[in-house]
Amino acid sequence: MGEIKLIIFDLWKTLAYKKNNKNHKSIREMIDKTGTSISVDKLVKIFEESVQTKKWKNEWGAYENMCKNMKLECSEKNINVLMSARKKVERNPKNYIHTISMLKKLKNLGYKIGIVSNSSMFAIENMKKNKLFKYIDYPVFSFEVGAIKPDVKLYKATLKRAGAKPGKTIMIGDNLKNDVLSPRKLGMNAIHYKNYRQLKKDFRKFGINL
Ligand SMILES: [Mg+2]
Repeated sequence: MGEIKLIIFDLWKTLAYKKNNKNHKSIREMIDKTGTSISVDKLVKIFEESVQTKKWKNEWGAYENMCKNMKLECSEKNINVLMSARKKVERNPKNYIHTISMLKKLKNLGYKIGIVSNSSMFAIENMKKNKLFKYIDYPVFSFEVGAIKPDVKLYKATLKRAGAKPGKTIMIGDNLKNDVLSPRKLGMNAIHYKNYRQLKKDFRKFGINL
């Protein structure tokens, strides 16, 4: 093992994916069914801030909050529309085919492994039984930290929890701004994830051979 001690992954579209959620399908459904004039990009932000930055007593409260932040009438119908659009895509998350064997290999090589993810508590509840978490030493989620990537707070929280130095850490994720540029601000190494072949190649630059 070289200088690297801690390897952190983004979760969505890096280790796992939500089936049937191409091009923000759930957000588009929310727009169609509520008739709001908010754009997709803006609504993604509203969703993240409203639902993914807090521990909620229940889903209803979370989506009622989103409804308020959309300046919609918070009727039962509107709240249900938001909640069910999201539930449909979060119900059945899948790991990529290489995920478990890669994590196993990294653990066997002696690395500590973290996750830093923008996620609601509901999406993570659906992941509870996922084998992936057996290999994660430091799972860090936006709903626990109260911040959304690219906010460096999430990375600071992870480094603190792991007692790791930024220079001995690599962050890997599919989103350039959130997963690469943000951790680099703290002096962390970062790999922009595109596919497993490319990731293995980039790992080699750090002396990690999978
Ligand atoms: Mg991602």
